[in-house]
Amino acid sequence: MSFFSSLPSLFDSPSINWKGIFTTGVLLYHFADSYINYRQFKALNKKSPPAALKAQVDQDTFIKSQNYARDRLKLSFFKTVYQAAKQLLYVEYDLFPKIWNLSEIILKNIAPFLPKSFVGTILQAVIFENIQFSLNTVMSLPLDLYANFIIEAKHGFNKYTLKSFLIDQLKIIVFSSIIHSIVAAGISKVIDYFGLQFVFYSSVFLLLFLIFLYTVIPVVIIPWIYKMTSLENGELRNELEALTAKVKFPSSNLFVIDGSSKSSHSNAFFSGLPWSKQIVLYDTLIESASTDEIVAVLAHEIGHWKLNHILQLLIGDFVQSVVNFYLFLFFLNNKSFYNQFGFGNVRAAWVAFTIYNLLIQPVELLNNLALNQLTRRNEYLADEYAKELGYSDALARALIILDKENLTSTDPDWLYSCYKLSHPSLTERLSAIGYVSEKKIT
Ligand SMILES: [Zn+2]
Repeated sequence: MSFFSSLPSLFDSPSINWKGIFTTGVLLYHFADSYINYRQFKALNKKSPPAALKAQVDQDTFIKSQNYARDRLKLSFFKTVYQAAKQLLYVEYDLFPKIWNLSEIILKNIAPFLPKSFVGTILQAVIFENIQFSLNTVMSLPLDLYANFIIEAKHGFNKYTLKSFLIDQLKIIVFSSIIHSIVAAGISKVIDYFGLQFVFYSSVFLLLFLIFLYTVIPVVIIPWIYKMTSLENGELRNELEALTAKVKFPSSNLFVIDGSSKSSHSNAFFSGLPWSKQIVLYDTLIESASTDEIVAVLAHEIGHWKLNHILQLLIGDFVQSVVNFYLFLFFLNNKSFYNQFGFGNVRAAWVAFTIYNLLIQPVELLNNLALNQLTRRNEYLADEYAKELGYSDALARALIILDKENLTSTDPDWLYSCYKLSHPSLTERLSAIGYVSEKKIT
């Protein structure tokens, strides 16, 4: 027996206290998260903008952005405690095996109405996943309502009515439930069929699924959630088309979405297949920025495409998943693991995978940190690309406007920034572009 194939049996020992490791991991992960939030909370006590931004960001906007960030952080603190408590209770009271048993009862009840080939552990895994997901959604709904109707409303961002909010939530639940079901069924099926050879095949399944998520899904989902209209003819459209033609960006159409009906936050992005992409602008961006500033924002987005940043993210996600599957080999047939989490003789790969993912949360902390460095680096590179196309000044002005409109924290704590913010702060980005202006942007 080789060293690697004997490893899983080393991990299968009654003397390993899996629940203890789980509890330590949950506490460690959430404690680290709270510590990072605490550092940012202290940084938010600063009373005036950083020296480099004094000319661009007025005192009033700065204080507003600090207050907004502080309110959101308070909610994050609460969420962290709530998540940790939930995960610990799940394991303490053996809720995973209980939900698994409940899924079996549901499966038995619906089995007579289904084709025989459908009934089995794979469908049971799908039911388990949906019960879990529904429970989580119901439990987090009060927090989502609070975030939107108290915090976002207080700072002037929320444009939802309770009805439109609930309708959107319902759409997201339906969509997420489909995604969860596909992954649960796919992974369970692969493990069921290939046994310990599942790592390679699960990775292939996940790669195909990720490509599907990155390309087809946004094209389907965005029009379902937002009202999407073709950008009207005029100066803005001409300028944007001139840019896409110049850099040979395969744009199929330019759209505007009614982001303003839900929130006053503004943005722009593109989505779609490699050879046919849709550029999507928020109506809030069009209202607040001038034509050359919007073109500069698009130049930055095109930078992401030109420099293969989407592909890098996809590969990053994929590599993370492969490592994750590989490590799961230690748990798939691990009797001590199943026993300690209350499963007795039941073997359910999908449930083991769910618990295993919670167990390795502390490792995820490092993974996310690494992936965040990649996205932050790519933001600088996309800015650099826009600069090379001659949009340096317009991009800087657009970034200042977007940060002001979104009340983004301009002077975050460095560790918080590294770990939690996928985009570098305004101060960092402006100095990287080399933007110097004494004039205030309004
Ligand atoms: Zn970007």
